[in-house]
Amino acid sequence: MIPKISKETTLLDKTEELSGEKIFSCHKCGKCSAGCPVGTLMDVRPHQVIELVQANDWSVLESRTIWLCASCFQCATRCPKDVDLTRVMEALRLLVLRENFDHIRISEISKEELRELPPVALVSNFRKCTG
Ligand code: SF4
Ligand code: SF4
Repeated sequence: MIPKISKETTLLDKTEELSGEKIFSCHKCGKCSAGCPVGTLMDVRPHQVIELVQANDWSVLESRTIWLCASCFQCATRCPKDVDLTRVMEALRLLVLRENFDHIRISEISKEELRELPPVALVSNFRKCTG
């Protein structure tokens, strides 16, 4: 569940402001989705994320996709329209995190998992998934 986010501004405006990307530059070729290394695990494919933002559909913030994105820049390098989807994903995560909503909570990770997980994985995930 995501927090109630103020909708005084449009999702499109907020995403463009935070990411610096021109969302309507996308011409829906799908090359970002085709090259995404974790695309098959996503509930919303990368090119569909752009479509939802274009449509001002806030439900994109409820997708697993924005948290699964590995910030690898593969989509950005493949995009023929110079849309940096990595920055768009980051902007969408920020919209959630700025509402004091953490995607992961250390209290919900078991002691066994904390012992087994590599510290670098924990640190990078807390950077990405907590505000
Ligand atoms: S930056 Fe994210 S969306 Fe883009 S290719 Fe990498 S994992 Fe996929
Ligand atoms: S590669 Fe670029 S232009 Fe093509 S769908 Fe993805 S964001 Fe849009």
